[in-house]
Amino acid sequence: MCGISAVVGMKNISQALFEGIRNLEYRGYDSCGVALMNGRGLVIKKNIGGVEEFFRKEHVLEISSQVGIAHTRWATHGKVTRNNTHPFTSCDGKFAVVHNGIISNYRLLRNQLQKEGHVFESETDTEVIPHLLEKFHKETKSPEAALVKTLHLLEGSFALAFLCAHDPEQIYCAKRESPLMLGIGDEIKFIGSDFNAFIDYTKNAVIIDDGEYAVISRATYVVKNAITGEEIVKPITQLDWDSETSKKGGYPHYMLKEIYEQPQTVSNVLDLEEASLDELAEMIHESRHTHFTGVGSTYYVANFAKYVFAWLAREFIPATSSDEFVSLASVGPDNLVMAVSQSGETYDTLTALKFAKASKAKTAAVVNVMGSSMARLVDKVILQGSGPEICVISTKAVISQMMVMTLIALRLGLRKKVLKKKAFERHLADLGELPGIIQSILNERSGFIHRIAHRYAHIKHWLYLGRGMYYPVALESALKMKEVAYVHAEGMPGGFLKHGTLALIDENIYSIVFIPPREDQELYQATLHSVEEVRARSGFVLGIHFDERGKNKDLFSEELILPAVSPLVAPFIQLVIGQLFSYFTATTLKRNVDKPRSLAKSVTVG
Ligand code: GLU
Repeated sequence: MCGISAVVGMKNISQALFEGIRNLEYRGYDSCGVALMNGRGLVIKKNIGGVEEFFRKEHVLEISSQVGIAHTRWATHGKVTRNNTHPFTSCDGKFAVVHNGIISNYRLLRNQLQKEGHVFESETDTEVIPHLLEKFHKETKSPEAALVKTLHLLEGSFALAFLCAHDPEQIYCAKRESPLMLGIGDEIKFIGSDFNAFIDYTKNAVIIDDGEYAVISRATYVVKNAITGEEIVKPITQLDWDSETSKKGGYPHYMLKEIYEQPQTVSNVLDLEEASLDELAEMIHESRHTHFTGVGSTYYVANFAKYVFAWLAREFIPATSSDEFVSLASVGPDNLVMAVSQSGETYDTLTALKFAKASKAKTAAVVNVMGSSMARLVDKVILQGSGPEICVISTKAVISQMMVMTLIALRLGLRKKVLKKKAFERHLADLGELPGIIQSILNERSGFIHRIAHRYAHIKHWLYLGRGMYYPVALESALKMKEVAYVHAEGMPGGFLKHGTLALIDENIYSIVFIPPREDQELYQATLHSVEEVRARSGFVLGIHFDERGKNKDLFSEELILPAVSPLVAPFIQLVIGQLFSYFTATTLKRNVDKPRSLAKSVTVG
């Protein structure tokens, strides 16, 4: 996965290209490159490293050009080297291509092209594209016809864009399974992997669908079907995000900014249209079996939903990691497959949904990005309305998704008469308090969590323990720790400990235990048993709980005491604590918080 940005305009576009690709850097940041058309032909610059550094070192902004493409890479084929950095050119230097995704039959194509005399400079799958374009351009004398012929040969998933010296005022692009869209301004047109590539310049977007290609010039654009060649009149989508929402707003990192935005994003979910949530609850009710799916953090959201639906609607809905979905699930017309995804582009989850569709199951998704592949694919979509999440680590999107799932569970519970109207309303009122409670936790507890994180940042191994709904919270919190602080953290149900893991416990293994409010009697007691088990073996326990100080005297090695809240609200609060703890551990360890290693925002490859 990667970012593609392209601009064609009347004046010099290098600044717009820079801003576009910088705004997409969260999608990948191994290396960066541009191809610009200027008076003398194509100028290519590329190097490993981040966008800002690349533009500065290579003096890209000093090149005057009205047509350009840029790429920020997240390597899938070939190491992170300058030679493997996009754009790639044809042998004659007339075509420059950037690509997102994987060309799965590239070896075959490459062998064939090499036999025909084409010389390759990289280890990437992408490089076959400029050579194919060159080959077919020789035959057809038309860049467009060369593109169509090339598309017919490519297998796999891709979004691509290219410049061609034979036609210097246009940019060509095409898409299959990787996101791509156009930005339509007056006398300026854009191509981007997502809206962030051009939102500073225009709010008019045209979303390219699978099997389509487009050609843009300063004044016009055209979208066509790659098989039939027919022109397609596409609707213009009006974006309602503004670029200010995407900026850091005074916070040192997007991660912290986005954690602090949670009172707002949770409120946004509370404002979602009730009829839409009811519709989804009804779909679940009507289906013989429903499956939840997601991957990474969204898999944990799906797991959280599993507990919430069991509790509030007495409905057991299995959650499956979407990368395993196709191997595991057998679904048919009377099933519903409901996915969770921030970007709406995650390859594994998209694959699971396509599999569900092909099996004639109904599909639904909770996603954050309007116009994304999933939003358009499924029978029913809920847009969670969290606004752009720029940090690669997901925080505000996760809490919103948990909230959406909880609201649907409540409505299903009411529909099934598992919940009486009164209980339903009490739960809703409790959730209505959540934004205010999160706000006060952020205001009053951040400093304390910062100090604790600082104190224990040297710890190499953590166990994150929780039972019931707190088990997915423990899993998600442990994942945060791994991905942003690079510290080993393992989420585990408290009940598991005595089935083997206790053997590990001594003074060197540190545990965090997410404890429910006392009101949740059974779960509370069971969780405290886990704490006792660890303490009995000299293990360290950081207890996060809602009791007043002194109630659990001597039980914890360290404790974080939260204000009393209702059982439905408590796991959300624990999640926020987990986020802050990871964030402050990461900053203490001087990690690259917004762009941690080996992770990209929307994993659009399998
Ligand atoms: N497969 C291509 C590569 O490894 C593109 C990866 C990407 O999407 O960034 O260069």
